[in-house]
Amino acid sequence: MRIGLGFDVHRLVAGRPCILGGVTIDHPTGPSGHSDGDAVLHAVTDAVLGAAGLDDLGTLFPDDDARWAGADSAELLAVAVERVHAEGFTVLSLDVVIATEGPRIAPHRAAMRARIAELVGAEAARVNVKGKTVEGLGALAGGKGVAVQAVCLLRE
Ligand code: MG
Repeated sequence: MRIGLGFDVHRLVAGRPCILGGVTIDHPTGPSGHSDGDAVLHAVTDAVLGAAGLDDLGTLFPDDDARWAGADSAELLAVAVERVHAEGFTVLSLDVVIATEGPRIAPHRAAMRARIAELVGAEAARVNVKGKTVEGLGALAGGKGVAVQAVCLLRE
């Protein structure tokens, strides 16, 4: 077994689609970024890659490379999972915490779990997602951003 940790933060800004966990949410702001800004899938990707001892998301898909401008983060995760499978690992479980005062996460948890599970090749029951507020504290207060932590267990 191998364990990996992923973390990501994105600003939430007006005029961007709000895509988190591979799910499009109806919300007036969305994560800024070179790709689609899906901080949830970015943290998941880094957790999966990290557990396998592979390079991280930013190394595999540099944000100064025009190829990844506006990239669908689901495609980036799919490429990462292919590499992890090629190393002889499968995803046993994933747990994800989304800290934001932007969009409400609870109504979208089931859809995110299903989408992430599909992307990593695991059952939805082995993928968990939960939202947390930040109690009005710090840089994420008032919905200005989203921070995500993901932990992944791989089986060799
Ligand atoms: Mg990111």
